[in-house]
Amino acid sequence: MGLTVTTGAAHADGCYTWGRSLASGATGEDVRQLQIRLAGYPGYGAVLGLDGSFGPATRSALIRFQQAYGLSADGVAGPQTFNLLYALQDDDCTPVNFSYAELNNCNGDWSGGAVSASTARFNALVSMWKLQALRHALGDQSIRITSGFRSYACNSAVGGASNSRHLYGDGVDMGSGPHSLCRLAQQARNHGFAQILGPGYPDHNDHVHVGAAGGWSAPSCGI
Ligand SMILES: [Zn+2]
Repeated sequence: MGLTVTTGAAHADGCYTWGRSLASGATGEDVRQLQIRLAGYPGYGAVLGLDGSFGPATRSALIRFQQAYGLSADGVAGPQTFNLLYALQDDDCTPVNFSYAELNNCNGDWSGGAVSASTARFNALVSMWKLQALRHALGDQSIRITSGFRSYACNSAVGGASNSRHLYGDGVDMGSGPHSLCRLAQQARNHGFAQILGPGYPDHNDHVHVGAAGGWSAPSCGI
């Protein structure tokens, strides 16, 4: 992906610019902005809270992120970490390899789901940061997204479950290629998805569904 990471002072960014280093004990919106981007690094089976409070789980997630990209893993977010995050995000705050358009084949404005449009859009953003972590763990090869946010109308049209996470904006379906479905489902367990449904679960033999709540089931993949 050709990331250029420099170790100098953090530069201005079209999405968000951090103004101080962050370590254990820090609180504030800048911590929350960091947590959103670390949402894919909570550890196996875990979910990182987005509470703006830099506690042990945030520190562990940061260390996993730093290790994943070969930074010095000190659990402190400073210029190295921020510059990597600037390189990983677009001006609309989505990670470079995913977009709001990709996460919404239903309508342009995120309306008509189970939550407000702004909440659905935010939930999709968090899912995208989890997907970016999944993508990186799978060798930075593309992930093929086949469905994201759905209004109730869009969800009915495709026969989605009545309580589908697609209605909340965080539900994402992934197709196979270049990765197998089981590879996607198994690796997703490490990246903050509280819901994983895949091969062996009814109606999920041709895709892997991930979301922010609901549990795991992909019996054909050992999940
Ligand atoms: Zn789905």
